[in-house]
Amino acid sequence: MTGRFAPTPSGRMHIGNVYAMLGAWLSARKTGDSIRLRIEDIDEPRVVPGAAETMMHDLGWLGLDWDGEPVFQSARHTLYQEALNLLTNLNIDEISDTISTIGIGSYDSDSYGTTANNTINTPGATPLIYPCFCSRADIRAASAPQEGDRFTVYPGTCHRLIANDPQRVKQRLASGDRHSLRIATTDTTIAFHDEVFGNQHYNLAQDIGDTIVRRSDGIYSYQLAVTVDDLDMGITDIVRGRDLLRSNALQIYIRKALIAAGFQSSEPADAAISYAHLPLIDNAAGQRLAKRERSLDLGILTAHGVTAQQIIGYCAWLLGLQGNPEHTKPQPMNAAEALGEFSWSAVRANTSDRVLDQAEFNAYFGL
Ligand code: GLU
Repeated sequence: MTGRFAPTPSGRMHIGNVYAMLGAWLSARKTGDSIRLRIEDIDEPRVVPGAAETMMHDLGWLGLDWDGEPVFQSARHTLYQEALNLLTNLNIDEISDTISTIGIGSYDSDSYGTTANNTINTPGATPLIYPCFCSRADIRAASAPQEGDRFTVYPGTCHRLIANDPQRVKQRLASGDRHSLRIATTDTTIAFHDEVFGNQHYNLAQDIGDTIVRRSDGIYSYQLAVTVDDLDMGITDIVRGRDLLRSNALQIYIRKALIAAGFQSSEPADAAISYAHLPLIDNAAGQRLAKRERSLDLGILTAHGVTAQQIIGYCAWLLGLQGNPEHTKPQPMNAAEALGEFSWSAVRANTSDRVLDQAEFNAYFGL
C-alpha cells in the first residue's frame, strides 16, 4: 500500500490539516507502508508563495515523514492534458453499468481546444468529455440548492445541447465562446467501503452529476488532477476529510474511465484501494473549522511555544486515539506514541464531527 499527504499550499497548516495528515501518516505507517507528499498547487490563484516549503518544514517538525521526492501538481500539466485527451476519446453511450466496456468515440480530441475546424458530430454518441458554456449564474438559476458539502449537481444544460444539437456546439466553439470541460456521468451507482463511515453508495448522475475537469480559465480541476495523480503515483491508501466522501465516488468513476481509456498506471488496474474519510472538526457553534481562525494556525501556536507533542497529542485525541473524545481530555504524545494507539476501529468508534471548544483548546495549549 502507498498513502499520501495532499496539502493545498494556500496558507500555514492549521489543526484541521494536521489532523488529516496525521490520519494519513498513521494509516500508512501502521502497516509499514510508504507515504508520498503531493503539493496540490494546481489552482495557482489560491497558492501562497512559500507555503509549500513551510508545510514541509512543519511536517518534519511534527515528526510526520514521507518517502521520495515531493510531487508538485503545478509541474504536471502535460500529464493532466494527456489524461484529458485519452478521456476525450470515449463516448458516454458506451459506458455500461460496470463501465468496463467503454468504447472509443469517433471525434477528434482537439475538438475542445481553440481550433475550430474539427467536428463533434457522431449521431447517437454523446462524448464523455464535453464543453460547457454555462456561467455560474446560469447553473445557480437552474439548480436545486447546494448540498451540505457544497456539491451542486450540474443541471445538464450543455449535456443536452451536445446530445441534441452538436452543430450548435461546434458553432459556439468556432466563435470562441468561453467554456469549461465536463465529464458526463451515467445512471450508475458507485459503491465503496470506507474504513470510518462503512459502505457507501452514490448514484453518479443523481448525486454527483456532470463535473468540471478543466475550468474555463484553463485550470485542470481538483477532481481530475487528484484522480490522475493517485493513479499515476500508485496511491492505494487514501485518508482525508468526510467532505470528500461524495467526491470519492466520482474519483472512482474517473479512475475507471482513465484505465478504460488506456492511461498507464504504476499500479495494476485492479489494485485494492483503502478509503478512509475522517469526521470533520467544528467549532462549539457547530460551524466547520475555518482557516481564518488564526489561533489554530501553526504559526500562532509555535510563536506561543507550543510543542509538536502537544499538537500531535491534540490531533490524536481528535482522531479518537485517546478514548472517545467526547469523554476524554487531550494529552500530549509524539507521532510514534500515536502510532502505538492507532487503529481504524478506534477512529470509527465515534463518527460524529469533532467539536473544538476554543476555551478548552486555549487551556490545553496554554494560550
Ligand atoms: N488538497 C486537498 C486539501 O487540502 C486534499 C485532497 C485529497 O485528499 O484528495 O483539502
